[in-house]
Amino acid sequence: MELPSARVETRALPTNKELQAKTRVVVLGTGTPIPDAYRAGSSIAIVHKGQSYLFDVGAGAVRQATIARYRYDIPSLYPSQICCLFLSHLHSDHTLDLSELAHTLWWRRNEPLSVWGPIGIERIANGLLEIIATDAEFRIGGLQPVENPNGYKVNHQTISPGILYEEDDLIIEAFIVNHGDIEPSYGFKIITDDLSVVISGDTAYSEVIAEKSDGVDFLFHEVISMEGLKNNSPGFQRYHNSVHTTSEELARLANRTKPKKLILYHGLFYGTEESTVLREIEDLYDGEVILANDLDVFIAD
Ligand SMILES: [Zn+2]
Ligand SMILES: [Zn+2]
Repeated sequence: MELPSARVETRALPTNKELQAKTRVVVLGTGTPIPDAYRAGSSIAIVHKGQSYLFDVGAGAVRQATIARYRYDIPSLYPSQICCLFLSHLHSDHTLDLSELAHTLWWRRNEPLSVWGPIGIERIANGLLEIIATDAEFRIGGLQPVENPNGYKVNHQTISPGILYEEDDLIIEAFIVNHGDIEPSYGFKIITDDLSVVISGDTAYSEVIAEKSDGVDFLFHEVISMEGLKNNSPGFQRYHNSVHTTSEELARLANRTKPKKLILYHGLFYGTEESTVLREIEDLYDGEVILANDLDVFIAD
C-alpha cells in the first residue's frame, strides 16, 4: 500500500467516522533501551472517539504514529494532532521522543501537547522549552506565518495515583507499580464504552497489576525471558530481577487474572530467539498470549 507523503494536516474537530469507530489500541513501539531495527521505543496509543492518547513515547514512536495514521486512516495519530501523553516513568527509553511529539509542526497545533508524568516531569518540561527556544524565536519573530504561537509549550501535570482523566466514557487511571528503585513508576488502566486495557509500564511482578487486570480485554505487560536473563552478568541479573517481570512470574500473574488477551511488549530477550519468551509463558499459561510487534492494532471482539 502506498502511503501519502509530506501532507500538512489540520483538523478542528473529529469526523463522524472517527466518533463512531470502536476504540483501537495501536502499538507504536515495543522496544527497550537497546536499538532495534524492527522495534521503536516503548509506546502504545489508545484511539477513542477521534483522539489519540499515548502511553510512553520511546525513540521512534512518533515516526510510527505517522505511519499508523496513514496505514490505518487515523487522523488523530498525525503527530501535531496527538492531544495527550501519559508517562509511566522517566527512564529515557519511555521518553526520548517527547521533544519530537511536542515540537513536530508545533505552530500548527490546535492545543499544546498535554503530558502527565511522575515527579520530575516539570524538569523535563522546562528542558523542552530550552530545546525549542531558538526555533520558536526564529519562527515567531521571522517571516513565517505562525498559527499558534503557544503551540510549542507543553501542558504538564504531575501524576498522583487515581483517576487522571475522564472524558465522556473514557477513564484513565494511574496506579503505582514496583520498578525497583525507580520511584514512582506507574501502570495505567484505561476503560472505554467498548474496551478495558491495563498497561504495565516497566515493573517487577506487581500485585496491583493482578488486581487491576482481573478479566480485562487486554493486558499489555513488559517481560524478560528466563533464558535471556541467564545471559546477563550477575550485576545485571540482580538489577533485572528487581525491576522487571520474568516470563515465569508473568505466567503466574496471567493465571490469576485471566485477561482475554495477554499482550507482551517491551520484551527483554538478551540474545535468545524472540519466540523463546512466548514459549516460556505458553508452557505455564493456557490463555491467549501475543508477542506484539510495532504497528499491531487491537480491537475488542
Ligand atoms: Zn523501559
Ligand atoms: Zn524502566
